[in-house]
Amino acid sequence: MKKQKVVIVGGGFGGIKTALELAGKPGFSVTLISDCDEFRYYPTLYLAATGGKRAASSIPMAEIFSNKNIAVVRDSIKSIDRKSKTVRGKSKYEYDFLVLALGVVTNYFGIKGLPELSYGIKSMEDAHELRDHIHKQLVDDKKPDLNYVIIGGGPTGVELAAALPHYIRHIMASHGLHKSRVNIDLVEAAPRLMPRMPKPYSKAVAKRLRQLGVKLYLGETVRSETTDGLYFSEGNLKSKTVVWTAGVTNHPFFSDNDFAVNDRGKVVVDEFLAAEDYIYVIGDNADTPFSGMAQTAIHDAKFVADNLGRLRAGRRLRSYKPAQPAYATPVGPSWAALLWGRIHTFGWLGWVLRSAADFIGYRDFESPIKASKHWTAGFGEEKNCLVCSGS
Ligand SMILES: Cc1cc2nc3c(=O)[nH]c(=O)nc-3n(C[C@H](O)[C@H](O)[C@H](O)COP(=O)(O)OP(=O)(O)OC[C@H]3O[C@@H](n4cnc5c(N)ncnc54)[C@H](O)[C@@H]3O)c2cc1C
Repeated sequence: MKKQKVVIVGGGFGGIKTALELAGKPGFSVTLISDCDEFRYYPTLYLAATGGKRAASSIPMAEIFSNKNIAVVRDSIKSIDRKSKTVRGKSKYEYDFLVLALGVVTNYFGIKGLPELSYGIKSMEDAHELRDHIHKQLVDDKKPDLNYVIIGGGPTGVELAAALPHYIRHIMASHGLHKSRVNIDLVEAAPRLMPRMPKPYSKAVAKRLRQLGVKLYLGETVRSETTDGLYFSEGNLKSKTVVWTAGVTNHPFFSDNDFAVNDRGKVVVDEFLAAEDYIYVIGDNADTPFSGMAQTAIHDAKFVADNLGRLRAGRRLRSYKPAQPAYATPVGPSWAALLWGRIHTFGWLGWVLRSAADFIGYRDFESPIKASKHWTAGFGEEKNCLVCSGS
């Protein structure tokens, strides 16, 4: 039987997992197209911004797909021609089935100054730009501005705000700098942190952040950023380091190519995660109940790959059942908030469970040995300053 061409666009959680699942099934020729050569393990990206090792958040695609029968292509896909069943970037790719997993992009909600002036934490480049800026300020500037503002009280903002004090102390110690007072402010528009989580979760996280010295500004809506700082409806915060973690929106590919989307811009999919004939949309792009989580993207990938295998074998297709993810937020060293079904735990146990979940996360993509390498990269104190050693 002729092999069916599956083209997967997006080398993140959903795309890579779909490719790995299909690699073990007969009858498919699989091409994975991504605009990036590495797999970004987002859950530990805040570590890369605060002096952690790159290997914890970045896995070369070549490492994941060595010995796998998958064609991995670097390209940025811009358009689709449904009639000829092709997608196009620099080159043209024909498909029998198409899986789209392009992830989300940063949204500044039109707030003046933010796109040009704020730092982000959505890619390894973003994370290192922030890390290097903080390092340069502390080490090279005669009178550094030690006011750091993070916008967004969701998991990314919380993780970053909690990790910053430790990182700044580490740079000061590594360079024998006189200890100065540092202000870390976390701004959230909702009246509480992590507004999508139950109240006890928000409360425990807020308490922990305050213990770490992070000042919380809740119910504050940002109006603009200038080179001096951040402005609200009333008042402002002076800072030369503002990090925006508060908004994402669906990838523009879908609106550019006339996909049906919901009011949040997510692509409308049917019970098989198909947006249209032969086109599946998964992970952050799809309008599913738990879209926006890595665990959901992996779940979707397994589901679509399984159904493609069934289709090929002439078996009955399964309908999609969303899987409730576990939520775990690290808040500074050896502490995490965790909500897993009915289990709520805060502190060291939460951190242990979150670390175990990360190991399972790496294992979804790699052998136990390779996964251990990336997992252990996320631990431990750096003896030297990573920026100075050029890592
Ligand atoms: C800082 C941060 C921390 C997070 N922490 C957690 C966590 O702790 N737990 C959790 O469950 N979730 C977490 N998430 C969310 C999780 O990472 C996403 O839900 C997950 O990455 C979605 O997977 P995806 O495959 O849909 O998209 P992504 O993983 O974003 O992958 C999209 C891929 O498509 C590529 N791409 C984009 N455009 C194109 C194009 N035009 N052509 C080709 N390739 C393209 C991108 O480079 C990327 O490789 C976090 C997210 C961030 C940003």
